[in-house]
Amino acid sequence: MIIHMKPKAKEHDIKMITKRVKDLGFDVDLSKGTESTIIGIKGNASKLDENIFIGLPGVGEVIRISEKWKELSREYRPEDTVVDIDGKVKIGNGYFTVMAGPCAIESEYQLRKTAELVKKAGADILRAGAFKPRTSPYDFQGLGPKGIELLAKVKEEFDIPVVTEITDMSYIELFKEHDIDIYQVGARNSQNFELLKKLADLGKPVLHKRGTSLKLNDFLCAAEYIYSGNGSNKGNPNVMLCERGTFPSNEEKVCRNNPDIPAIHYIKQNCHLPIIGDPSHSSGKRELVPYLSFAMTAAGADGIIIEAHYDPNNALCDKNQAVKEELSGIIKTCKQIKSVKEEYNSLYDFKRFL
Ligand code: PEP
Ligand code: MN
Repeated sequence: MIIHMKPKAKEHDIKMITKRVKDLGFDVDLSKGTESTIIGIKGNASKLDENIFIGLPGVGEVIRISEKWKELSREYRPEDTVVDIDGKVKIGNGYFTVMAGPCAIESEYQLRKTAELVKKAGADILRAGAFKPRTSPYDFQGLGPKGIELLAKVKEEFDIPVVTEITDMSYIELFKEHDIDIYQVGARNSQNFELLKKLADLGKPVLHKRGTSLKLNDFLCAAEYIYSGNGSNKGNPNVMLCERGTFPSNEEKVCRNNPDIPAIHYIKQNCHLPIIGDPSHSSGKRELVPYLSFAMTAAGADGIIIEAHYDPNNALCDKNQAVKEELSGIIKTCKQIKSVKEEYNSLYDFKRFL
């Protein structure tokens, strides 16, 4: 439920309503726009009677949010959420952020060489997996804790924030110890609710990927577990969503997964969290990665996550989708597309076509 205060509501009125909500046992999220303030009531307010608030000084409208992902919705919070990585990188609200790096950490040499290339190309964040969820148990599984150690070392050396996948909550201490900046929830764990609840408690930035078979509604409900804290946890506002393609493609197999470009637009329109496109896992093909990056940017992505490798043909994991010299051109063109899109939107005064 949200309480839309009148445009001229006094600070005192806002405080009184906030206190009333808290006295009823709920937390609040204040969203102060240029015109008016929205008081979001956190948690399950389905049994709360809206008449308690209707008619009180400063109260405009009291609205029940119909989506199951209430706190992610633009109704709950109209403005973009910005995720701040240690004061170094910002994601959301007009920034365009690039995360790039190898699918898997293979060795110190490989990680350093790739970090060098990624940084030179202009990426903001280094991605690299230490725990790799592979389809076959015989495929390279990643270096595990050793990989996290290497990532921490390279992060320091190149002064670049890092994102890596957390496949199990038992690794949280290891991640904390090595100061991992962004905890990636992979497609296979997209609905691992126990892990999501732990990350809600932890408060560290999370990159939450959409599961391969998840409808958008199911994906957003899963992210709501992290953001809202599910009533019993604190909740974590530092969530970024990631579209990485859904159910394997049709028989013709143009792509490894079906890139759901319209989903990016839908999320941008209806949710306030940053949305990051993953052109690598959705295409599975090096030659398609640039064009999917462009399409995702045009659809409204706040950034992209790309697999890159200093020696793509010998990558131990996902070599067919790894880029190398293409990376700087992809980044440059995406930024141009973003700015052309903003120019186009300004012609029509679209409020949310960001
Ligand atoms: C990855 O980013 O390396 C990865 C395994 O992605 P996904 O979970 O989307 O398959
Ligand atoms: Mn991969």
